[in-house]
Amino acid sequence: MKAFFDPTQDGHIPRSYLSRGQMRTPLEIPERTGYILKGLDAVDVAVERPTDHGMRGINRVHDFGYLRFLESAHRRWKEIPDDWGDEVMSNVFVRSPNPLRGILAESACYQADGSCPIGEKTWEAAYWSAQTALSAADALLGGARESYAVCRPPGHHARFDAAGGFCYLNNAAIAAEALRERFPRIAILDPDMHHGQGIQELYYDRDDTLYISIHGDSTNFYPVVSGHEDERGKGAGYGYTINLPIPHGSPEQVFFDHLHTAMDSIRVYEPDVLIVTLGFDIYEHDPQAKVAVTHEGFNRLARTVGGVDVPVLVVQEGGYHLESLTENTRQFFSGLQAVR
Ligand SMILES: [Zn+2]
Repeated sequence: MKAFFDPTQDGHIPRSYLSRGQMRTPLEIPERTGYILKGLDAVDVAVERPTDHGMRGINRVHDFGYLRFLESAHRRWKEIPDDWGDEVMSNVFVRSPNPLRGILAESACYQADGSCPIGEKTWEAAYWSAQTALSAADALLGGARESYAVCRPPGHHARFDAAGGFCYLNNAAIAAEALRERFPRIAILDPDMHHGQGIQELYYDRDDTLYISIHGDSTNFYPVVSGHEDERGKGAGYGYTINLPIPHGSPEQVFFDHLHTAMDSIRVYEPDVLIVTLGFDIYEHDPQAKVAVTHEGFNRLARTVGGVDVPVLVVQEGGYHLESLTENTRQFFSGLQAVR
């Protein structure tokens, strides 16, 4: 198995996080990756530095105006000689048909919520997180059967033209589009605690990408406005989006019942490659958990998803209970190694 990570990714150090009427302490912090890398070390997986694939793979997925904003936002924000904070984050969240004049208007449009502040090193970190995903995709294109992108910041909430939910670039979609030249039929399984509305929106009208998300019911839970069972895709893509929400406070078995439903659909779809957007925030003690997956549950999850007879790309998403990340990483990848 191949694994990729670049320390530049940890230059993103969010200072603020607005959620449910309060400023909160950021959860998506650099320390996360150290714990994950220790878990990989425990199963003897060597971690390689990603190759710089440039902007083209990112441009395939995201709006050009949005990318120009991400790249320049912090620099332009700091040029304003006023009492603005150190991070780019608007107090206005609105989509307007009018031209965007000024960095604050761009921020209002391109940052969808209060959990994606842009600091001095955020663009660089998001760029290298995407390069990590592209390098992991490259490993599969080169013949590897499994690869793991230790992506941070995560990606599944990033939309075509907006950041949100700790995410800036949609790493899984960026990897998917790179994989498509050899693996045209793609399944993305998203068992992170939250609905990956960024991935859903990107593939909603397509039948060449099956998107299945298992997540906490989005009623009053991020991303709040998507992830319900009756969102199934549109046009040619109708039926190729499958949402399996979990009632809050569910035991582990509810997660696995949904996982088996998801795997049945993946087998019927018969993809050329499987992308798993792995979130450790389903762990029973994670501050974001609405279901109680145990340490051993991650081993079972990996054995189940690893049972497909196609290459598997694992892309890191959430997971915020720091002390458990090493053990949950170890459990997942020892499970994957056992069945592949
Ligand atoms: Zn999550």
